[in-house]
Amino acid sequence: MGIVLENVIAPVSEDGTTNTVNLRIKDGVITRVDEHPLPVSRGDTVVDGGGKFALPGLVNAHTHLPMSLFRGMADDVPLDTWLRDHIWPAEKRLTADDVYWGSLLSLAEMIKSGTTQIADMYFHTNSIARAVSKARIRATLSYGIVADKLDEHGKSQIKRARETIERWDGEASGRIRTAISPHAIYTCGRGVWAAAVDLAQDKHVPLHIHLSETRDEVAWAVKEWGQTPVMALDSIGVFSVPTIAAHCVHVTAQEVEIIAQRGVSVIHCPKSNAKLGNGHAPVVSLLDAGINVGLGTDGAASNNSQDMIEEMRMASLLQKASTGDPTTLPAQEVTMMATRNGANALGMGAREISVGQDADIILVDLSGVDAMPAYEPFSTLVYAAHACDVTDVIVAGQFVLRDRKLLTIDEEKVKYEVNRRIGRLSED
Ligand SMILES: [Zn+2]
Repeated sequence: MGIVLENVIAPVSEDGTTNTVNLRIKDGVITRVDEHPLPVSRGDTVVDGGGKFALPGLVNAHTHLPMSLFRGMADDVPLDTWLRDHIWPAEKRLTADDVYWGSLLSLAEMIKSGTTQIADMYFHTNSIARAVSKARIRATLSYGIVADKLDEHGKSQIKRARETIERWDGEASGRIRTAISPHAIYTCGRGVWAAAVDLAQDKHVPLHIHLSETRDEVAWAVKEWGQTPVMALDSIGVFSVPTIAAHCVHVTAQEVEIIAQRGVSVIHCPKSNAKLGNGHAPVVSLLDAGINVGLGTDGAASNNSQDMIEEMRMASLLQKASTGDPTTLPAQEVTMMATRNGANALGMGAREISVGQDADIILVDLSGVDAMPAYEPFSTLVYAAHACDVTDVIVAGQFVLRDRKLLTIDEEKVKYEVNRRIGRLSED
């Protein structure tokens, strides 16, 4: 029993050339890509792609799923006020059940906009993992460690991170992997970073961290560590383990070199960085240095959407606006960041549409009034299309969205559960 996707437009070569093809999917992988009609076996599901754009699923490589509960709670305020007066007090009220329903809300939004894989950092990770298992997408999950010292509290934070890895790595038929997340240089002390690196080495999991997000963070690191964040963390061997670093907005040329040499993957979060007034990452310099740069939305409290099509558009437009060069970060390249580079950073999922790849595939209908005529599918996807143009999402060979209907999440139930929680969460 497999799936035959007929008549889809797919990128069929490295240079992004697209062609109308038929795809066969079996046992979670792509087994045939052919311009000619494919034989259909008994029990196969045959789907007419109707000329839709088929591409590898979008990878949202930096998220905080439950923060959709705080979407719009405090907009247009300074970062410090946002965190101290709104987000942190609301987070103190979160229960494990709140986190579960908030995560499902995010996952519903993500699947409906073409995301097949995420990297998430938060707490109540058991609830997040249960939601991810239910949604049936791929995820690299981690407990966000916040601790000044490796004292009793610091040790308990490391213990929670270890428990998340031991409980969830490889679960959901391997669709769930784990990482370890010392939150950032300003929220974790040296001893905590060292313990996190030891744990990552011990468990063979990557680090997923925030890095050089704000000017204040850089100034703080220079004052407290005597060096800028990348140099400071490099000096204690943090990047000796595979690292997924969100943001890297304020990095020097020397730091870009270090990031490249250490093989750190950078996750660019253009909309969150812009909305919080933090600037934007030097994406072209990072790519030119050979760094694997993926894309992420960050949490819904600072974005406020988790739509990777919009994130691609923002990434490309911001680079063009800031460099004054319209050839910067073209549509195909930014799509590669959102697909192949994200999958490379997380070490699983589809990197391209070809035989042997994981069957994480999305279909996007580019024939709507918002998108047509689709002269060039990558351009249409990045500059014109919207989440509502995503019609089908396949993860590991199974539909999770079919004809715009979620198959793994009860949307009405999620909306009901979230609505009855927001009053308590936003209390003064
Ligand atoms: Zn973040």
